[in-house]
Amino acid sequence: MTAPIATVAELLDAWPALAPYARTATLLRPSAGRPSPYESSIGGRLLWPEGEPWPRCRQPHLMYVREKLTDNEREAWRGIERNRGRRRRSGGAHVMTAEEAETQSRIMDGGSLDLVAWERVRLVPRPVPGDGLPMVPVLQLCARDAPTLDWPTGTDLLQLLWCPQDHAEPEGQPRYWGPVVELRNRASAEIGVPSTAPPVPGGAKEVYLPTPCRLSPVEVLDLPDQDELPRELHTAVEEWAGERGTDYNQVLGCLPGWKAGGWPSWHLTDFIPLDCRCGARMRLLLTLSSGGDPGLNVGRYGELRVFRCPENTDHPMRLNLQ
Ligand SMILES: [Zn+2]
Ligand SMILES: [Zn+2]
Repeated sequence: MTAPIATVAELLDAWPALAPYARTATLLRPSAGRPSPYESSIGGRLLWPEGEPWPRCRQPHLMYVREKLTDNEREAWRGIERNRGRRRRSGGAHVMTAEEAETQSRIMDGGSLDLVAWERVRLVPRPVPGDGLPMVPVLQLCARDAPTLDWPTGTDLLQLLWCPQDHAEPEGQPRYWGPVVELRNRASAEIGVPSTAPPVPGGAKEVYLPTPCRLSPVEVLDLPDQDELPRELHTAVEEWAGERGTDYNQVLGCLPGWKAGGWPSWHLTDFIPLDCRCGARMRLLLTLSSGGDPGLNVGRYGELRVFRCPENTDHPMRLNLQ
């Protein structure tokens, strides 16, 4: 019996055609702890330039709103239920007519109904009152911990903050529903630890507040999802791996977890090409993962991925959830 293959390196040895697709990535491997502001961390204190205002989110937040049904809507809903009951008792179809279905969906208006209180419950964008919601530190990455990432000239610190609320397609992020993300590239020598703690946002979603973690980064070779490989090559590699008791898609491609660089998996949707406004195909910069010690839950216990333009790191980044 053949021993199961375990490593990407063995796969690359056997399939040189895969080599151009191998990217170095850094698995961040968080564990709960008390990170210092001078090290890489999740949910820790950030190095922050004195006098630079703390970022605040002023984009609308998705909030559950309850609305009383009008008398007409209530009557229409009851009428439909009466008709359905009548048809059921006379042995007819249980299904609604097209007209009834349309009336019900108009009444629900994209939400659901609380039939006890006769209220419609919907997630709707609501403006943030006052000066906006302060963002929270999610990730600080020092260049020494992920040296193979593409660091803009003169910088050695990457910070990711987000607004711990849901947003529907925020500015520049079509087809994305989740926290609004801000990135900062910095030169750590020019900044220090701020004397005051960052503001704590009121009304934040618990699942978007990370538990402070220290990181144990490790460099790996990462291979693409099947959707980003030539079909013939993927078929051959998958077969080869399968014969050795290893699944390419589950084990070898797109390593899971918190990750800097590497390849994104497309396990929920088909491959979605993310192109920058300048025309360049964007590359995966960071993967933020649900569960584990950081205790986040993004995209129904999935991953939030940040993509960046390979041509110019100042071009706006794109977000994607899987
Ligand atoms: Zn927000
Ligand atoms: Zn670009």
